[in-house]
Amino acid sequence: MNIYLTFDYELYFGERTGTAKNCILHPTQLLKEVADKHGIKLVQFVDVGYIIKLEEFKSSFPELEEDYQSITNQIKQLYQEGHDIQLHIHPHWEDSYYRDGKWHIVADRYKLADFATHEIDRIVTTYKQKLESYIAVNSIFAFRAGGWCIQPFDKFKDSFIKNNITVDSSVFRKGKYSSQQYSYDFSNAPDLSRWTFNNDPCKSEEGPFTEIPISSIKNSPLFYWKLFLLGRLNPYEHKPLGDGIPIAAPGMRKKLLTQFTQNTVSVDGYNAALLSKALKQYKGKNELVIIGHPKSLTRFGLKALDRFIEDNKSKHNFTTFQKERKKL
Ligand SMILES: [Zn+2]
Repeated sequence: MNIYLTFDYELYFGERTGTAKNCILHPTQLLKEVADKHGIKLVQFVDVGYIIKLEEFKSSFPELEEDYQSITNQIKQLYQEGHDIQLHIHPHWEDSYYRDGKWHIVADRYKLADFATHEIDRIVTTYKQKLESYIAVNSIFAFRAGGWCIQPFDKFKDSFIKNNITVDSSVFRKGKYSSQQYSYDFSNAPDLSRWTFNNDPCKSEEGPFTEIPISSIKNSPLFYWKLFLLGRLNPYEHKPLGDGIPIAAPGMRKKLLTQFTQNTVSVDGYNAALLSKALKQYKGKNELVIIGHPKSLTRFGLKALDRFIEDNKSKHNFTTFQKERKKL
């Protein structure tokens, strides 16, 4: 089986974004050390909107110059060492700004679909070019939507074709949520680990795109009680390394604590305890796509990931989109 370890390289988007150091740079370095130890490579979906804003505001706020240099240097280093750098778009950066020593996140337009078609095309084109300017031209062909909001896809389809973005990894089976910011509904996504599509990433049909969905797993409310409790009881092991606050997701916590939910297979926090269980459930499939966020990693999660790779590296192929590019 091909196993992809994919990470959304980004700050938090709530009241407090947290720092580049604690949300991105340090946890990514720890991840890289685990990967290096086992000789495997990671996929980083880089939130380019943040880098564009760093560049825009760094001349007025010298403290951002250091963040800009450290972030772009880390991306270059990851790429040079064979890790995969791909495109992650959180378009609310378009409206956000830096003032009085902090980022002010304006998330009225959180999804790409909240923008007009010509603006979407500008965002996709300039973000992709910006990211490639740090690594290599034509190196980016895979995408993950911010907050998994990839629908309605026909609104960005043309821009994706124009920009040679042919692989998406935003869908996870049975995922469904909507709020003021979020909107995704993957209830109809096929029970496959990969398919081609045309206008709708949840519909397997002939088309120019390949969906490699994030793997998903059904979790009990008990699991989330444990997850939230452990964070309180043993913060050293179970508190996220990032120092920001997530964007509000009304009703989500209650839902997790009261009913069975389908969620992503993830390295974040205590979710990492389920990696082996997920792998068993995906037996017979060709891909397992694991998601993570450097900001949401915990010491427990890093150790669980280390063990998971150790136990499976001889049986499975830990890979990246870049390495599989010819076959996608
Ligand atoms: Zn994201």
